[in-house]
Amino acid sequence: MHPTSVKGVDDMIRLGDLHEAGLLRNLLVRHKEGTIYTYTGSILVAVNPYQLLPIYTTEQVHMYTDRRLGELPPHVFAIADSCFFNMRRNKKNQCCVISGESGAGKTESTKLMLQFLAAVSGQHSWIEQQILEANPILEAFGNAKTVRNDNSSRFGKYIDINFTKGGAIEGARVEQYLLEKSRVCRQAPEERNYHIFYYMLMGMPAEQKKNLSLGSAAEYNYLTMGKCTSCEGRDDVKEYAHFRSALKILMFTDNDSWEVSRLLAAILHLGNVDYEATIVNNLEGCDILQSSHFKMASQLLEVDPKALEKSLTQRSFMTAKESVTKPLASAQAVDCRDAFVKAIYGRLFLWVVGKINAAVYKPAEDSKEVRQSIGLLDIFGFENFAKNSFEQLCINFANEQLQQFFVRHVFKLEQDEYSRENIVWQHIQYQDNQSTLDVLANKSLNMMALIDEESNFPKGTDATLLQKMNQVHGKGVIYIPPKNNYETQFGIKHFAGEVFYDSKGFLEKNRDALSSDLIQLVETSTNKLLKQAFHDVLSSSTIKRSVNPRMIITSASSSLRQTSDGKKRVPTLTGQFRQSLDSLMKTLTVCQPYFIRCIKPNDFKRPMLFDRELCMRQLRYSGMMETIRIRKAGYPVRYTFEEFLIRYRVLLRTSLCDPKKESKQKCCESICESVLSGEGDWKTGKTKIFLKEDDLVQLTAKHVYIQ
Ligand code: ADP
Ligand code: MG
Repeated sequence: MHPTSVKGVDDMIRLGDLHEAGLLRNLLVRHKEGTIYTYTGSILVAVNPYQLLPIYTTEQVHMYTDRRLGELPPHVFAIADSCFFNMRRNKKNQCCVISGESGAGKTESTKLMLQFLAAVSGQHSWIEQQILEANPILEAFGNAKTVRNDNSSRFGKYIDINFTKGGAIEGARVEQYLLEKSRVCRQAPEERNYHIFYYMLMGMPAEQKKNLSLGSAAEYNYLTMGKCTSCEGRDDVKEYAHFRSALKILMFTDNDSWEVSRLLAAILHLGNVDYEATIVNNLEGCDILQSSHFKMASQLLEVDPKALEKSLTQRSFMTAKESVTKPLASAQAVDCRDAFVKAIYGRLFLWVVGKINAAVYKPAEDSKEVRQSIGLLDIFGFENFAKNSFEQLCINFANEQLQQFFVRHVFKLEQDEYSRENIVWQHIQYQDNQSTLDVLANKSLNMMALIDEESNFPKGTDATLLQKMNQVHGKGVIYIPPKNNYETQFGIKHFAGEVFYDSKGFLEKNRDALSSDLIQLVETSTNKLLKQAFHDVLSSSTIKRSVNPRMIITSASSSLRQTSDGKKRVPTLTGQFRQSLDSLMKTLTVCQPYFIRCIKPNDFKRPMLFDRELCMRQLRYSGMMETIRIRKAGYPVRYTFEEFLIRYRVLLRTSLCDPKKESKQKCCESICESVLSGEGDWKTGKTKIFLKEDDLVQLTAKHVYIQ
């Protein structure tokens, strides 16, 4: 074992054992001491401590302000400070990509970065407070308790913080990605629905609850699927109060928040609607059982109960000549209701994000004005569950893109170091995930394109999609076709390992379509918020002019497809997601990037417990190994001339090179020439000597021998 491995080092690049086990050991040793941050070059590795550490105080903020990276022990504040410093010095936008699996600490790290930036920007102004308070609102609607994390973000976000030339925070913009809508209707065992529902039921004054006919969480089907309505360590009453005060700070009026509560209540009531199967003209159908829940739902949605019932139990079709309706069997009616609820919630979430942006985003008054910004990306990590579906494919596709971005950056850093030192070097071979990206999204007939094509094709099914994917990609090395004709699972070789996806439900999820009956129902509603939320699918005449135009821009309304009957249709999910990812990648590419790799040390949310197996897996796909692979392919061992001489002076043959007369560089070269005798591959630059690991082995052996 290399001596550096015993004690642990601040920067893993300095480790003698530049391999997985060495990295793992270093993290383990530090974790034992309660040191959660470690660098690998300028990449910050953060191991979730699962306990409050006294390292985020105002003193710490001051301590890390205006310091160089590496001057002080590794810290998330040091990364934030570097971003801030570089933004101002280089007049270049900065971004920080924060990755890791669920529960690893991404969202907490994002908040700490934000906290630091707000502090050093130094104004204690209204806008800073607004930006900080946007978080509790986003988390109320977009976070939930899962088995992995009590406060799991079920959406991705990019917060771009704008600064004036003087370095004061001027505004911000939030971009969201792929909220998990299915959670509104269904939760896995031990999991909860979105926090907001429990906050509301626990925290709302009795009078208001009465107005909405609301009871306690245990009474609602949508809140009890996971058999878990409370979350240890979370005080829903307190959180509700915080949420309400945050709404005020973000300029939501009392009326706005009341309207939001009404829609949320409508969702809960809809979830409790019951159906009764019927047979009409030999067709299976169903009726809605009249109940106070149903009545309340139609009242809150401000639609005629008869119309609501009709659109939830029947579906209209256009034949060549006329529109006909077909009854829905009760299981279909349940699906139809759930689709409606998911659409309402998903759109409500977009509306909330739009409202937040309307409060904190200040468009540049003068288009020539130079704006400086720091973007923070807090996005779902790579996922590989027992069962993976369309959502996982989207998430893993995003991670492939980020990995590509990361590898290119690390590769570039390496290149930069060589050119700084004036070293001529051959092209380094490194593992690239470009071929996976090509199959997923670049090549013609790539998988995303096939999914979209099949979704737009009226006769397309999950089975025809699978056939096409087999046909086009079956012979390649990235796509793994199903084992036989009955199997619905296909595999993809991702940079982080093989993942198998079940193609069942792909098209429906991708189409993300709402029946025209429900769209027409919303058209008849007098609920302003509901209509604003659905503005992009309603015929424009039914939307009031009072809709804030800026809010429309923030939702995905820019690329509506026209259907054959001239109605507007929302783009497919892959379409929307690819568009927002493309724009994200464009933004990131023109920034100077930083990376924070969050590591979850155990599956029990426990402090001081380090599961090696689990951490090793995360290290493997965090890209840390890629960093090291690229480094190893070049000259991984590097010392300044001084450092090298302090270590190996005894190997210098003074008869060949007199240290009194010759430069340090010459002495280093002389040592290498005599010890490595022509076989070694090493280079000297302006201030450093670069060696291969083999060279180091030889030097060390000789050193030991002489001593
Ligand atoms: P992710 O966003 O990666 O899913 P979170 O940031 O929500 O994970 O972190 C999960 C939980 O871990 C937090 O709720 C908190 O309890 C704990 N945690 C994460 N980072 C820290 C930290 N730096 N200090 C203390 N606790 C932390
Ligand atoms: Mg999170």
